[in-house]
Amino acid sequence: MKKPKLRELKEAITSLFSKPFTTDFPYKPHTPPKRYRGKPEYNEKECVGCGACFQVCPAKAIEMNDEINADGGPTRTLIHHPAECLFCGECERNCITQEGIKLSTKFDIAYFDEKNVQNSVQHKLLVCKDCGEIIGTEKHLLWAFRRVKNLGFAQPVMLSRLMEELEIKTGAEEKIAPPIQRTDMLKIVCPRCRRIAFISDEKKEH
Ligand code: SF4
Ligand code: SF4
Repeated sequence: MKKPKLRELKEAITSLFSKPFTTDFPYKPHTPPKRYRGKPEYNEKECVGCGACFQVCPAKAIEMNDEINADGGPTRTLIHHPAECLFCGECERNCITQEGIKLSTKFDIAYFDEKNVQNSVQHKLLVCKDCGEIIGTEKHLLWAFRRVKNLGFAQPVMLSRLMEELEIKTGAEEKIAPPIQRTDMLKIVCPRCRRIAFISDEKKEH
């Protein structure tokens, strides 16, 4: 006859007198532990729209839509799709502001329509005033400017955007009449157009 396994026997007796590990969910609400990795959520105030979370997501659970011809001006929208999410936390770990997206403790996200559980954030995009190429979000640029402080004055796009914000320069003054000239170098233009502006004098026939 086989001897009873003492370890299992001890566990069986102990479990008779200890609290169950399972909960009564869904009959009673359940509060997960603080460090539970639940549905990631954007923080509109802290997110600057850099797109790093979109780039690092291994499951492609984050969608990034850049709309150049949106009604109120160019926009970038980031949408989190819970159905694709692995809850790995890479988006939170790589967020450049550390607060733009955070895993919440929300776990009860069953749905009929995914839109009801999606989470999104929208930002104003800056595009090149000459060719329309995307430069980045306005908030990202200003975030970078605050970090580099005075050095930001050496970056033409940052300087132009700041001058607009301080109302030293109007949007009309930023307009570029083609072909791009050397004087347009300090306007909101992409690196490629700035280079063309820089060498524009050399192209002129003397
Ligand atoms: S938790 Fe992981 S899978 Fe989910 S959105 Fe973030 S990076 Fe993507
Ligand atoms: S600031 Fe953070 S949350 Fe916002 S787009 Fe960048 S990485 Fe994503």
